[in-house]
Amino acid sequence: AVRYLLQTRAGFERDAWQEVEPWLLERGVETRLAELVEQGGFLLVDAADSQPALNWSTLAFTRQLCRVVADVELGERDRLTPLLAALRSRGTPFGSVWLEVPDTNDGKSLSGFTRKFQPLLEEGLTAAGLLDAGSRRRLHVYFPHKGRAILGVSQGDEAAPWPMGILRLRMPAEAPSRSTLKLAEAFEVFLGRDGQRDRLKEGMTAVDLGAAPGGWTWQLIRRGIKTYAIDNGPMKGACDGHPLVKHLRADGFRYRPQHPVDWLVCDMVEQPARVSDLIAAWFVGGLTRQAIFNLKLPMKKRALALRDALDRIGDALDAAEIRHTVAVKQLYHDREEVTVYLARVGGKTRGKRG
Ligand code: SAM
Repeated sequence: AVRYLLQTRAGFERDAWQEVEPWLLERGVETRLAELVEQGGFLLVDAADSQPALNWSTLAFTRQLCRVVADVELGERDRLTPLLAALRSRGTPFGSVWLEVPDTNDGKSLSGFTRKFQPLLEEGLTAAGLLDAGSRRRLHVYFPHKGRAILGVSQGDEAAPWPMGILRLRMPAEAPSRSTLKLAEAFEVFLGRDGQRDRLKEGMTAVDLGAAPGGWTWQLIRRGIKTYAIDNGPMKGACDGHPLVKHLRADGFRYRPQHPVDWLVCDMVEQPARVSDLIAAWFVGGLTRQAIFNLKLPMKKRALALRDALDRIGDALDAAEIRHTVAVKQLYHDREEVTVYLARVGGKTRGKRG
């Protein structure tokens, strides 16, 4: 049996559970919700079996994930001793330690404390022989509040590679809207460093549906990708009149390019089912091989709406015998929405690249 600590955006705890529960049940793993506080930013989930294991990258609403090894009540003064005591009985050392807190106002008020506590804890762990740079195991020390620490472990890529699952990005001064951070984060999360180098290349072409004022378009043109920006609204700043931007005032649901493009991105505010049908139509029509798009989820049953949207895409692509890969995340810069990456696999490109 295993207990998972899952971190979410505040207000999305229930959605995370509604996603995790069927995932485990479908794989024959009995599960139980052990703790969930609405707006608390985390939940504890018990699973009867540790395999198959939950993984951060396959869960949309889970920002960060670890396996709980201890849940420690802390006093006012010495918080270090009880933590070290709980860890000493665990033996094997950790490669690194992350102090994490809920992404809530209460959580933010703990940041001064965790900043000061981090070096103390590292010192204590080192003295106890519990830190070893060679280990791939990561220790998560999660403080729901100052009086409680949930200790968890993650290994390799089962967890997000950033503390609290939050990728902080600097707002580029020239980008016309803060939305630009969403696509920048999506590229990091879904493609990684190598993927970005291989899949976002100068000379490629893209279509951006619902492009104005141009935050997403900007991410594409700054990589040298020629972008057809579809929106009845105006493109602004660096995207207005840029030589790589072709702004077309058209309906994003009806527009189709004359030639296939390398990328389709879409940030139109519309029903998830409508957006997914549109994206599926582009793939079935052979108009793009990869896409990143947002699904807005303002409804109550978000996990259900998301499942339905993804099923529609899966069904349409399966019917057309298009092999594909899909990944979904509620990114740090996403609010009531998730971001989806969809790509064809195999197909026309033959042979392997070196
Ligand atoms: N991604 C943009 C950025 O980074 O600046 C922001 C996009 S904003 C959330 C949504 C845009 O979709 C609006 O500019 C709106 O005009 C556009 N839009 C909504 N419905 C559309 C449609 N049917 N056709 C084209 N554009 C549409």
